[in-house]
Amino acid sequence: MSNKKAIVIGSGVAGMAAAIRLAVQGFTVTVYEKNDYPGGKLSAFEKDGFRFDAGPSLFTQPQNIKELFELAGEPMENYFSYKAVDIACKYFYENGKIIEASADAVIFGKELEEKLGEASGTVEAYLKKSEKVYTHIGSIFLNYSLHKRKTWLNKRVIKALGAVKMGYLFKTLHKHNKSKFKSAEAVQLFNRYATYNGSNPYKAPGMLSLIPHLEYNEGIYYPLGGMISITDALYKLAIKKGVQFCFNTPVQKIINHEGKVRGVVANNENIEAGIVVSNMDVYFTHKYLLSNEYKAKDVLKQERSSSALVFYWGIKKEFEQLQLHNIFFSDNYQAEFDSLFKKKTLQNDPTVYINITSKMEQGHTPDGKENWFVMINAPANVGQNWPLIKEQARKKIIEKINKILETDIEPLIETEEILDPVTIEDKTASYQGSLYGTSSNSKLAAFLRHPNFTTAIKGLYFCGGSVHPGGGIPLCFKSAQIVCELIKTEQRAH
Ligand SMILES: Cc1cc2nc3c(=O)[nH]c(=O)nc-3n(C[C@H](O)[C@H](O)[C@H](O)COP(=O)(O)OP(=O)(O)OC[C@H]3O[C@@H](n4cnc5c(N)ncnc54)[C@H](O)[C@@H]3O)c2cc1C
Repeated sequence: MSNKKAIVIGSGVAGMAAAIRLAVQGFTVTVYEKNDYPGGKLSAFEKDGFRFDAGPSLFTQPQNIKELFELAGEPMENYFSYKAVDIACKYFYENGKIIEASADAVIFGKELEEKLGEASGTVEAYLKKSEKVYTHIGSIFLNYSLHKRKTWLNKRVIKALGAVKMGYLFKTLHKHNKSKFKSAEAVQLFNRYATYNGSNPYKAPGMLSLIPHLEYNEGIYYPLGGMISITDALYKLAIKKGVQFCFNTPVQKIINHEGKVRGVVANNENIEAGIVVSNMDVYFTHKYLLSNEYKAKDVLKQERSSSALVFYWGIKKEFEQLQLHNIFFSDNYQAEFDSLFKKKTLQNDPTVYINITSKMEQGHTPDGKENWFVMINAPANVGQNWPLIKEQARKKIIEKINKILETDIEPLIETEEILDPVTIEDKTASYQGSLYGTSSNSKLAAFLRHPNFTTAIKGLYFCGGSVHPGGGIPLCFKSAQIVCELIKTEQRAH
């Protein structure tokens, strides 16, 4: 058996990024994917002339993709292009206030000064701190395995840990934001960043205040062709580097021989490899592929992230007052998160997010129409009555949109598709349909997330949203990078 053979289970962004990196490192790589398409959650579809991104809609840190193309020695512009977005998000509040959050921190600061009475320089100071936390602490936590002794002996890491102000760990994001902004609207706006990894701002640590740095200091981008162009680019690059994809091929088992990985079972056949990287949700990897119920249960010690209900609507009108990213906030944010995480249901007035890619380029809809991706946070699936919840949520969303946009949206919906937590679990094997694996709803979440390897089985690694450093596209790329660096180091040692 050649240990230069690597198998990747799953073709999510992290799986494909790992496959590309391993091919560049000289491995013969095969990706096994249970679906008949690559990308996992990052997929798209068309209906009645409307094009929709099915999953992620927010794109930051394009450098993660650039880095892969550079490593592979391929010109990225032949595969993938993107442009900066001027308005990061437009926020609508129940009290009638509207905030247009410019991606330019100074303009954004002025907007919060004028509309919310925040003191001059407050936003800039917050974002400067956010940058500091990201560059000194966050980037280290995101770029290394936290479960290797070597990491803790690294001078940069020791310095970074020394710089972690305990307040960031022991204060919640909400408390942190409350100490920085005087208006309830600004606090709500900055609390929202906890949802970027499916968490509750009233529980998650203040450390998550580093996320706005990515949007306002580094920038928000739009991939031309929509988010699906990320999947397309990674897939084409992987093929170019010789990676083989086997679609409609679920892996049934990971072969463990005396603590060493020997390959996988798919199509009831043993397929040999010295390296196996699982991009499948780590809970299901332990439960089904390793038949280790005990380890699977251990993963569940950390709360799952939130899930989502998405209504994809083809709208037969253009709404000038909307941008690419729009948020219609709920009046009682704390009650919304209590419902999501404690009661595991939806509250009466959910926060509604609307993404419209037809604002950015033509050809996504027939003329004069828009493709609305309407999403609300939903609890992870624990067997709720989803048909009823969907029906109630649709009604509430429509009421909210009608009120805020002073319209009657129902007759303008020309076509509709719906995604719920059960479908998310079915399509991508994400336990309970969670979008980001585990949440950050505890002070030490970053340290508790599942490692990218296991000491029990040599040669087996884990990447993707359910393991360190966490969910969301940028972090999935980081997990692939950490895994491939670990493999490189371990190969060198032999
Ligand atoms: C509605 C929605 C909105 C989101 N919004 C954003 C956003 O705006 N920005 C952002 O950054 N992130 C967002 N996310 C999260 C983001 O999509 C994920 O964090 C990321 O795409 C997960 O990638 P992954 O590499 O972990 O793999 P996944 O996308 O989870 O894919 C795993 C793959 O493994 C395959 N698989 C599973 N089991 C097996 C098996 N046994 N054998 C073979 N293959 C298997 C699955 O079919 C799947 O293709 C959103 C997600 C959703 C669903």
